[in-house]
Amino acid sequence: EEVMSSNFIHTFIDEDIAEGGQYEGKTVHTRFPPEPNGYLHIGHAKAICIDFGTAEKYNGLCNLRMDDTNPTKEDVEYVDAIKEDIKWLGFDWGDRFYFASEYFPQMYDYAVELIKKGLAYVCELNAEQMKEYRGDLKTPAKSPYRDRPIEESLDLFERMKNGEFEDGKMTLRAKIDLASGNFSMRDPVIYRINHMAHHKTGTEWCIYPMYDFAHPIEDAIEGITHSLCTLEFESHRPLYDWVIANISAPAKPRQIEFARLGINNTVMSKRKLRQLVEEGYVNGWDDPRMPTLCGLRRRGYTPESIRSFCEQIGVSKVNSTVEYGFLEHCLRNDLNDRANRIMAVIHPIKLVITNYPEGKTEEFTVENNPNHPEDGERTITFSRECYIESEDFMEEPFRKYQRLYPGNEVRLKSAYYVTCTGCDKDENGNVTTVYAEYDPESRGGDTPDGRKVRGTIHWVDANNYVPAEVRLYDNLFTDPEPDTGDKNFLDYINPESLVVLNDCKVEASVKDNPHTHYQFMRLGYFCTDNKDSSKDHFVFNRSVSLKDGFKK
Ligand code: ATP
Ligand code: MG
Ligand code: MG
Repeated sequence: EEVMSSNFIHTFIDEDIAEGGQYEGKTVHTRFPPEPNGYLHIGHAKAICIDFGTAEKYNGLCNLRMDDTNPTKEDVEYVDAIKEDIKWLGFDWGDRFYFASEYFPQMYDYAVELIKKGLAYVCELNAEQMKEYRGDLKTPAKSPYRDRPIEESLDLFERMKNGEFEDGKMTLRAKIDLASGNFSMRDPVIYRINHMAHHKTGTEWCIYPMYDFAHPIEDAIEGITHSLCTLEFESHRPLYDWVIANISAPAKPRQIEFARLGINNTVMSKRKLRQLVEEGYVNGWDDPRMPTLCGLRRRGYTPESIRSFCEQIGVSKVNSTVEYGFLEHCLRNDLNDRANRIMAVIHPIKLVITNYPEGKTEEFTVENNPNHPEDGERTITFSRECYIESEDFMEEPFRKYQRLYPGNEVRLKSAYYVTCTGCDKDENGNVTTVYAEYDPESRGGDTPDGRKVRGTIHWVDANNYVPAEVRLYDNLFTDPEPDTGDKNFLDYINPESLVVLNDCKVEASVKDNPHTHYQFMRLGYFCTDNKDSSKDHFVFNRSVSLKDGFKK
């Protein structure tokens, strides 16, 4: 089964393979390099599908590499979560799991190699001066340290490593081209001093390589053939190639860039997601409103729906924003196929069938999924009292209302025809109980005389049900683009993004499979909450509504 259809990346790889050269006899080898400073989100899923999917397509390999060269904000908690999410999506890195920090010694050696070749120097300009010197100037002034003797740079770089200097005192810079039209080629910093403990290497290092220097080295050490990354690195590619060309690299990987994924009505940057968590706007990284993979999983997204989404949005060179509705569309399609249909009532009122014998219970056999007869049948019970949705009854119906109202006959799904005879109300005028009479001849939902009813409503046996809490979710942000321009995304939080219903009545069959996806008939797709739901207290999350608002 092919995971990814063709795209421009595959065209490049096909050309590389056809040309032979450095790719002669090589296995296509990619990597997914998350920085372990947060949980993965749906944007990462796109990158994962591209990195692992491309390797699968070419019968190649894909490494999982923690890009942990920056000591700030990194944490082992994230490492485990990242692995779990990738496995959940259905991808496998085999035994090729690495930490970029394992390569600090080689990176240091390559930096020394550059100094010795006269291609790097220790610079003592501070950040502000450096900015000024490199600036937007047509003819940038050169650093007074650019031509210092190789021996001096070697000595200073070693002393930087030995901890003799404080943060910011000096940097190691590649000597490339101060007049380059490409900013990243104007003698970029490749090492900086940072006296900060690292989650893997502790205090062993107090100098850390910059991403643009570290990443090509990581790729080369692992024998990556194609280093797939997002578009913002396109202008850094000359530097990537420069590093590979000027060190004695064990391999010559090729960087190819693709567009980042953005989705409407949400934010995607880890910094913003962390802020939502830390400032309590959501209940953790796995809050079902979050675009994180753990949040989507908890919401009821299946790995198949996410992979199908990533496949369908395609791979391009142009950044664009995808409608949230399209992600929902992909989930709905998958659940339509996969989810058993059951009945649940989320705004219950009682329906009493006055001509049905007291104390009697009967059983009906119903299909689990009309799309898949092979998914079998189950038994539901029926008795004199059941719950129906309060909105399925109106004492005074509006025009064309076809559900229950006094004198009207409807079908109770899979059970009987009933005709409404009246209702009780409390002192505020709210309906508390609806009364009806059933037609015993209509068992199963049809009558011998073949008469039709306009309305079919769902119900749950009031003598046999599971009480449940149901959580209804909506967009986390009211603005489709909450973080564009100078907007503060926190100003657009949707106060109604979570509605909790505490008095729901769910078909008793859910007791037998506590962790699964359902279609609550007429209400939407739901799943048991993977954290808070238990046999003693069922909690269901609405994954997605039934109605597909997405227009292609
Ligand atoms: P953020 O800005 O959210 O922190 P990042 O790019 O710094 O994202 P990394 O952990 O470095 O996050 O990302 C790992 C890989 O996932 C990178 O190759 C990156 O390009 C890719 N990636 C991250 N976000 C997206 C996105 N929205 N769409 C596609 N790929 C993404
Ligand atoms: Mg990054
Ligand atoms: Mg980042």
